[in-house]
Amino acid sequence: MPSAVASGVVVDEQTLIRAFFDRASGQRPDVILGIGDDAAVLRLDPGFDLVVATDTIIQGVHFPPETPPRAIGHRCLAVNLSDLAAMGSQPLWFSLALALPQVEEWFLVEFAGGLFALADRFGVALVGGDTVRGPLAATVTVQGQARPGQVVRRSGASPGDGVWVTGHPGDAVAGRLLLAKKNPDRATRSLHQCFLYPEPRVQEGLALAGLATAMLDISDGLNNDLSKLLQASGVGAELEAAALPISAELRQVQGSEQQALEWALAGGDDYELLFTVAAADESRLGELAAHWPVPVTRIGTVVRGSEARWQHQGRQFLVPDTAFRHF
Ligand code: ADP
Ligand code: MG
Repeated sequence: MPSAVASGVVVDEQTLIRAFFDRASGQRPDVILGIGDDAAVLRLDPGFDLVVATDTIIQGVHFPPETPPRAIGHRCLAVNLSDLAAMGSQPLWFSLALALPQVEEWFLVEFAGGLFALADRFGVALVGGDTVRGPLAATVTVQGQARPGQVVRRSGASPGDGVWVTGHPGDAVAGRLLLAKKNPDRATRSLHQCFLYPEPRVQEGLALAGLATAMLDISDGLNNDLSKLLQASGVGAELEAAALPISAELRQVQGSEQQALEWALAGGDDYELLFTVAAADESRLGELAAHWPVPVTRIGTVVRGSEARWQHQGRQFLVPDTAFRHF
């Protein structure tokens, strides 16, 4: 227990920050000035561009109230690392603006535990933030670097490119919907983990820089996010629903194949990478991906046009429009 905490209650903001967020460990030599002053001072390697992303998660909007605080700490950083991964960029530092309805020691121990476990795995340092009273919400801004011209945009897909996805889309939304289930079986527990602890594909995203022609991370559902990529690139795509990498766990908790496909296409919270690769580079992708801890699957082909056309074993497949709406 941090010694600054008396009888389970932290009194002021400075004490709270020192007790839970200002750590001697986990620092980086490129942090010239971290937590404790009015702003952080960070040093980019010469010859690199700064890459910045921000995401907010709010209780009741982005995660249900029963989400464990450790998973909330993980999530607020994971969704941001996922954005940098989708740019093919190396994350370095992050800041955290945290709104808390009340200060509870157990909550902060768990939240910081989840946050720093992930930060330390990817070597990113917390360099500042803000702490306020309010409905539970966390905003993280992550900064990273990339060589000029090396970031992967959404706009680079051309006809003939393959459409690829990492991991098992649909698992996270299933885990979220089944979160309150009593006595979960092994498959359900595994799906819970997919929702609670999304794994940002940082190394995979970095490896895809210079190989993927376009990329984004799936947060609002595969089909919805695919539309964003196609629109940005000014192309369409032909896709095969039967090629979707439905996990054994998702199949197990699902009544029908149709339902599993709908969750994979229209669910959300996947934080997997969706990207396009030129046909000539597919063997290079295969060599790279052979070393990844996550599968990559080719689900279709970029074509001229402007829409995603899904087939299921030769017949047109209509994707239900249940994607996450921001407003
Ligand atoms: P100011 O009022 O000057 O912005 P604060 O008292 O809000 O300063 O914060 C003091 C220091 O603690 C600053 O360096 C700020 O970046 C950092 N900080 C505040 N909240 C957090 C947090 N939740 N996580 C990490 N650093 C934080
Ligand atoms: Mg402040």
